[in-house]
Amino acid sequence: MRYRSLFTTIVLLFALFSLKAQNDYFFAEGTRFDPKIPTPEKYLGYPIGTLHTRHDAIVGYMRELARISDRAKLDTIGETYEHRQLVVLTITSPENHRNLESIRKEHLKLTDPTQRVGDYTDMKSVVLLGYNVHGNEPSSSEAAMLTAYYYVAGQSAEVRAALKDAVLMVDPTFNPDGRDRHSTWANSYLGDPMVSDPIDVEHNEAWPRGRTNHYWYDLNRDWLPLAHVESQSRIDFYHKWYPNVVTDFHEMGTNSTYFFEPTKPFGSENPVVPRDNYDGLNNLFAGYFHEALDEIGSLYFTKEQYDNSYPGYGSTYPDIHGALGLVFEQASSRGHVQDSPTGKVAFAFTIKNHVTSSLATVRASVGEREVLLKHMENYFDSALEEGAKNPVKGWVFGDPADDGRNQAFIDLLLRHKIKTVALNDDIELDGKNYKAGKAFYVPNAQKQYRMVRTMFEKVIDFHDSIFYDASSWTAALTYNMPYAEWKGKQDLSGKELTRNDLKGTYARVPKTNYAYLIEWNEYYAPKALNYLLEKGVYVNYGSKPFSIETNEGVKEYGYGTLMIPVSRQEMDADLVHAYVEEATEIAGIRAQSVKTGFSTSGVDLGSGSFTTVRKPKAIMLIGGNTNSAEAGEVWHLFDSKVGMPITKVDMDNAGRINWSDYNTLILVSGSYNSLGESTLDRIKLWVREGGTLITIKGATSWAIGAKWVNEKYAPRSERETPERMDYVTSRDFYGAQSIGGSMYMTDIDITHPIGFGYTSRELPVYRNHSTLIQPSSSPTNTVVKYTENPLLSGYVSKANLKDIGGTASLIATSMGRGNVVMFVDNPNFRGMWYGTNRLLFNAVFFGNY
Ligand SMILES: [Zn+2]
Repeated sequence: MRYRSLFTTIVLLFALFSLKAQNDYFFAEGTRFDPKIPTPEKYLGYPIGTLHTRHDAIVGYMRELARISDRAKLDTIGETYEHRQLVVLTITSPENHRNLESIRKEHLKLTDPTQRVGDYTDMKSVVLLGYNVHGNEPSSSEAAMLTAYYYVAGQSAEVRAALKDAVLMVDPTFNPDGRDRHSTWANSYLGDPMVSDPIDVEHNEAWPRGRTNHYWYDLNRDWLPLAHVESQSRIDFYHKWYPNVVTDFHEMGTNSTYFFEPTKPFGSENPVVPRDNYDGLNNLFAGYFHEALDEIGSLYFTKEQYDNSYPGYGSTYPDIHGALGLVFEQASSRGHVQDSPTGKVAFAFTIKNHVTSSLATVRASVGEREVLLKHMENYFDSALEEGAKNPVKGWVFGDPADDGRNQAFIDLLLRHKIKTVALNDDIELDGKNYKAGKAFYVPNAQKQYRMVRTMFEKVIDFHDSIFYDASSWTAALTYNMPYAEWKGKQDLSGKELTRNDLKGTYARVPKTNYAYLIEWNEYYAPKALNYLLEKGVYVNYGSKPFSIETNEGVKEYGYGTLMIPVSRQEMDADLVHAYVEEATEIAGIRAQSVKTGFSTSGVDLGSGSFTTVRKPKAIMLIGGNTNSAEAGEVWHLFDSKVGMPITKVDMDNAGRINWSDYNTLILVSGSYNSLGESTLDRIKLWVREGGTLITIKGATSWAIGAKWVNEKYAPRSERETPERMDYVTSRDFYGAQSIGGSMYMTDIDITHPIGFGYTSRELPVYRNHSTLIQPSSSPTNTVVKYTENPLLSGYVSKANLKDIGGTASLIATSMGRGNVVMFVDNPNFRGMWYGTNRLLFNAVFFGNY
């Protein structure tokens, strides 16, 4: 008994010692903790900083805290593509936990301009501590566990005050799939002793690396497009709470120090965010950050860089919602320890800085509670006020020919809580007809007015000319949405929409023994087409318009209409009917049936203008120096919008491809010379024998440079040699000459198979590169061409704009019996370009035109 108790004492002492050692490293000396709450080290079995913690273990620790403590509660807010949980640990006093729902409801009054709060005495600061949006910037999730521990186990007066006055929400991993991809890499190459040599494999992950999510998307660009489940779940949660402060923790190059906001003034700020956010709140919080980092002797910098303008950043979206979004950047150890010119950077050290900033964020959020609450209330009051004062009452939009794209755009608006109505009456604006049923209205007079501006306003005046990222994000243009300002006296009336109203247009089609027709101008028509091809149904596409009597009356059909003849199939009429039903139902679109092939105008259904669709067997090269973001966009597009598999082959395995198994090859930006001569000759032969080669952006430059096609770069106009300038100003000068990311108008040939399904010749495109391609010398090859003065939205220098005007955006050319479809611009940028996606659908389904 005696011995046993002595033994227990020794074990306890040892445990306390190691607990103390870890705690003393990460927290201020003498911080007292409740011994009943396990430290991360105790729970995980290793000290924080000595291994990269798996996401499931992070979730496990959060769950353990919620199980043991009445200060914490865990919510699962969604899951990733790889079924990892997205969780939020809510930490506050037990009393606040008991009243959490009423605290939330009180808090939401701040966001409602019809309710006046004014007295904030009993209200709480709501702080969303978010971590690890970039999977290979791993220190932050480790910091999340320590931060959660600090507030769940902490016994100090400061912690108790924070729990009383704030609701803390720890979202430990914004991007669990990317985090685990990176962590598995770093852990599996961890040596004993550790290797700090930067060239060691531990510090150099393989393609596609861990920054991005399952589909290789940067989730720190996705708060606006909401292309992914992680962001969709997060935004739903966000709008349940409207936090006052949101953190976004990152890592940067190993040779740097630490960064906290303010970001670079003016140039990198968002145009719709009130100045008070930057001049007031940011500076107020910076005081808390520098004090905390000074205390532990950490070097840092502020104000010089980091973009705060693009609304899809986790640190900018909150600024457009009455909150303070904060980005932090820590010099990365990328691995467990890495050499830098100023000594070794250890993983634990990088974690410590993020812990320090996390605690300082909470300190500031509690200390400035009333300032934050007032800021939020004013923010939404002033949003409604400004919206109501705007001479533009609101925005009318809607594509008469594409319900799928209309609904996708409305879905985006509604996810961002933007009030949207379906118009009761037809309206004509700027020479365009908006027909009831296909026309919608967003009023400016609403509390989300600043998000409305984000969706519709074009921006071409800028304070600065250097952009870290995009300088334009006008969502309506990315969806190629016809839209117009409404300047009437009253708001237009209609039914307010909810996401339940967005169910597609599918309706049963009567069986016929003759043929079915599907309009190609519907965004989701490729999904139906793919389904039919999978089922072995022969489908034709028409290359000329016609009108014909259908079950819905006489209907006009445009270029690319799908025609499914019944008697020519290798299956009976009932089965054809069943497949047409299933295909249109899953795609959410309609088919029509016809009993005759005789058109009332245009070509008949037996015309030579109908061609049988070739079932795509698509392959895409990845790895090497290919652009993972572009490859991920292609992969995600065909998975999520078409349901069509694409075989992804690493560049190293390209020599093993049996080319006769495929008819479509997609190359994203990258240099393909490393494939070697024999593989390249094989691909060339495959195209000449009838394959379709699709090149995107950099791959188009590569194909032209390698002389696979007979197209040419367009000349750049002569630039004046700059006057002598001071070295320090040169970065700004040359930055202004580059093309950051802007939107341009093009003219599209809608009679070309690659242009099928478009009903207007006007097509906005996205350009963030300086490659200029001449229109083809073959007159029908330039399917998409920049207009002469093409800028729609975003920054571009005058000289660059002049050069871009009149160049090619997409060229399709033949090569032997095959075709090469060359995208100068990326049609899938960030999963938001519903407008240009169709070009890629056409290239894949009609690429052998
Ligand atoms: Zn980052």
